[in-house]
Amino acid sequence: MAQILDGIRIRDEIQRESKPRVEQLIRQGRAPGLAVVLAGYNPASEIYVRNKVKSCQALGIYSEKLTPPETVTTAELLAMVESLNGRSDIDGILVQLPLPPQVDSKRVLMAVDPDKDVDGFHPLNMGRLVTGRPGPRPCTPAGILELLKRCQIPIAGRNAVVVGRSDIVGKPMALLLMHEHATVTICHSRTSNLAEVCRQGDILVAAMGKPAFVTGDFIKPGAIVIDVGMHRITDREEAAAIFRGAPEKLEEFDRKGSLLVGDVHPIDVAGQAGAYTPVPGGVGPLTIAMLMVNTIEAAERRLRACSA
Ligand code: NAP
Repeated sequence: MAQILDGIRIRDEIQRESKPRVEQLIRQGRAPGLAVVLAGYNPASEIYVRNKVKSCQALGIYSEKLTPPETVTTAELLAMVESLNGRSDIDGILVQLPLPPQVDSKRVLMAVDPDKDVDGFHPLNMGRLVTGRPGPRPCTPAGILELLKRCQIPIAGRNAVVVGRSDIVGKPMALLLMHEHATVTICHSRTSNLAEVCRQGDILVAAMGKPAFVTGDFIKPGAIVIDVGMHRITDREEAAAIFRGAPEKLEEFDRKGSLLVGDVHPIDVAGQAGAYTPVPGGVGPLTIAMLMVNTIEAAERRLRACSA
C-alpha cells in the first residue's frame, strides 16, 4: 500500500509552530501584517484569498484585503503597491494572480518591496533562491519541501523529475530540490518521451495543470509522487473515466456535482507509488501555511533591522 503524504497534518504542525512566533512579535510591539491585493472578480481567487485571510485570523496575523475593480490600471495598482511598501504595519504584500488582462502583471510584481515579497516572486528573491541565499521562497514549492522533510523522505542523491517550468511552481521547485542535492530533470510541454523521462524519477513532482494526466506509465514503481495540480471536474463522463473502478467516488460526484483531481491519475498513483500527496489534502493546505511562515519571517526580519 502506498503511503499517503498528509498535507493537512503537516500544515497543522507548521501552524502550531507559527503561533508562538506571532505571539512573540505581538509582545515585542505588534502583530505581523499581510496585505492582499485582489483585483477584479475571479471566483477561484476569491476562495484562495478568503482562505488566506482566515489563516491569518487563526494565527493572530493582521490582514487587510484591497479590492480594486476589474477596470483597474497598471498605474493605479503600482500606486497601491507603493503605498503598501511604505506602511510600517504591513510586513507582507501579496498580489493575487491572475490580474485583469489590461494590467502589466510583471511590472506590478516587480514594484513590491523585495523585503515584503511574501510570495517570493520578485526577481531579487528569485536570484536569492538560485544562489542559495536566504529569502522568501515561493509558497507552493516551499511547502512541498517541508512536506518531504517532515515525512522523512530522503532527497539527496535521488533523481527528481519536475513536470512544469512556471516561475511560481516548476522552476523554484527544481531549484529547491537541487539545493537539497537531488539530481533534477525539468520537463515541459516540449519534452520528448515525457512518460519515459518521468519514470526515471525517484521523486516525481507533477505541476503541469492537466487533470489526471500523469498515469501509471509515468510513475516508477515505489516513487514519491507529489501532485500540485488542482482541478474541479464537473463533467460526469470525465469523472467516470478518471475514477474507473471506484464507484464510491462516482457516488460522491453524484452527491456533490463535482470532484477535485490533481495532475496525477488518482487511481494509478495509489497502485504504483511508494508514497503520494492526495488531492485534496496534499499540497494545497501547505501553500497557505508557507505564506503565513513567510509573513512571520518578514516581520521578524524587519523587527531585527529596526532594533539593529
Ligand atoms: P502554468 O504556469 O500553466 O505552467 C504549467 C507548466 O506545465 C508549463 O511549464 C508547461 O510547459 C507545462 N506543461 C503544460 N502541458 C504539459 C504537457 N502536456 N506536458 C508537459 N508539460 C506540460 O501552471 P502553474 O502555475 O505552474 O501550476 C501548475 C498546476 O499547479 C496547476 O494545476 C495549478 O492549478 C496548480 N497549482 C496548485 C497550487 C496549490 O497550492 N495546490 C499552487 C499553484 C499552482 P511550457 O512551459 O512548455 O508551456
